[in-house]
Amino acid sequence: MTQEELFKSLIAHAKEYGFIFPSSEIYDGLSAVYDYGQLGAELKNNIKKYWWDAMVRLNENIVGIDSAIFMHPKIWEASGHVNAFNDPLIDNKDSKKRYRADVLLEDHIAKIEEKIEKEVEKGHKKFGESFDEVQFRATNPNILRNRAKADEVTAKMNEALNANDLEAVKQLIIDCEIVCPISGTRNWTDVRQFNLMFSTQMGSVSEDTNIIYLRPETAQGIFVNFLNVQKTGRMKIPFGIAQIGKAFRNEIVARQFIFRMREFEQMEMQFFVRPGEEMKWYEHWKAARLRWHKALGLGDEKYRFHNHEKLAHYANAAADIEFEFPFGFKELEGIHSRTDFDLSQHQKFSGRKLQYFDPETNESYVPYVIETSIGLDRTFLAVYSSAYCVEKLEDGEERVVLKLPAILAPVKLAVLPLVKKDGLPEMAREIMNDLKYEINCQYDEKDSIGKRYRRQDAIGTPFCITIDHQSLEDKCVTIRYRDSMEQERVPVEKLRSIIEEKISFRKVLENI
Ligand code: ATP
Repeated sequence: MTQEELFKSLIAHAKEYGFIFPSSEIYDGLSAVYDYGQLGAELKNNIKKYWWDAMVRLNENIVGIDSAIFMHPKIWEASGHVNAFNDPLIDNKDSKKRYRADVLLEDHIAKIEEKIEKEVEKGHKKFGESFDEVQFRATNPNILRNRAKADEVTAKMNEALNANDLEAVKQLIIDCEIVCPISGTRNWTDVRQFNLMFSTQMGSVSEDTNIIYLRPETAQGIFVNFLNVQKTGRMKIPFGIAQIGKAFRNEIVARQFIFRMREFEQMEMQFFVRPGEEMKWYEHWKAARLRWHKALGLGDEKYRFHNHEKLAHYANAAADIEFEFPFGFKELEGIHSRTDFDLSQHQKFSGRKLQYFDPETNESYVPYVIETSIGLDRTFLAVYSSAYCVEKLEDGEERVVLKLPAILAPVKLAVLPLVKKDGLPEMAREIMNDLKYEINCQYDEKDSIGKRYRRQDAIGTPFCITIDHQSLEDKCVTIRYRDSMEQERVPVEKLRSIIEEKISFRKVLENI
């Protein structure tokens, strides 16, 4: 299966098993908006819990809030979003398709990088054991030429974007001979800036003064509550405020399933520090966040840092944690050193002081901020896509299995009476009624045991128990493990401890 086919089949699987549906499907859907189904909602809740507990429960100096989506419109002027939350847009006149100009260039650079990797692969094949990759990369003329090309385009792109020089961005697209993937032509419009915020009106009169925005990030709800939380929570710097909530962006091209949506959820934490100490905390949070990701066990090699060269208007340092999605390495989380930009701007625009009196230094100052900002939906996609696999079994059959981390699996335990009679369903119900308070269980008595196992594999249930006739006598059941498919006979009274040990958030959180 190619990566593209794999991606298509995992999207189809998400729909078939109630993880993710296209929004408004009976009306043919709404572009780049998705609904989470019965299992998707459970998986999402588990991811939120993993993040919230790691942030808020395990750090005495981090608290969580839940601010409103609607905020005073001046907030978005102060934050710079009204003027600067733009993407450069370009249209192809023949296909009438719209693109992000920077993405067209990034894709072009990625293609050059791909050529380099292909050349390296060829070298591997040609020279076998004696292949010296470092030397090959440093001397092969094709690689050197492509490396120089990629670096040149990257540098020119960053320069043009940083200077907001849209003509130069267009010129670069022309110079690179980039064609529209649909029409195949280079018939481009000029590049224009496009603001990503959705707006609506509050109240009954539609005047400019009533325009409000759907928040494009949750962070501002934290900044404007900075003093409320600091004072009422008696917080001492350094401290953090965390929040999970919806954000909205009118993305120019929304694609790749739930990777880029117009309505999505963020899990953000703003960490307030003394001015001058921000770089220390920036490094601290980069390392801490990577540990959080790796503790999930999706594979350490799937993560990498990407340091930003083009910085957002508020940042003095920024890095992404990228994840290897089925379509390549892409941003999963951003870690930004936001300086005192936001609080200072809100001070200016609101006329209220947003300062902290530091009892240790006897000084008042506007704190500096380190932000960690992760997309909940992108985390969902990371977890779900790396869990999805199609396995060939010894008997020649295939099974589709979601090897989800046990703590995140929507259903933890399937309770399966071997037959629908002879008192087995009653015993199964009794076990389930006892376990269901701590463990999310699903009861299933329909079809053969083999079919029922497959259904549970397909939704990522880590444990199934089967109740058979002997169970009535010896009070033991067969537990079957999803990944190894091994089976074991265990006493009913031990079930809770066996399963709870394996679905324990504590065990994973202790590893961070
Ligand atoms: P990108 O470069 O991919 O557009 P960004 O740099 O604009 O992302 P941030 O503003 O740093 O993203 O937002 C923080 C996080 O929110 C991102 O790392 C991502 O996980 C998530 N996110 C941002 N935009 C979207 C979107 N349209 N759909 C889903 N998640 C998103």
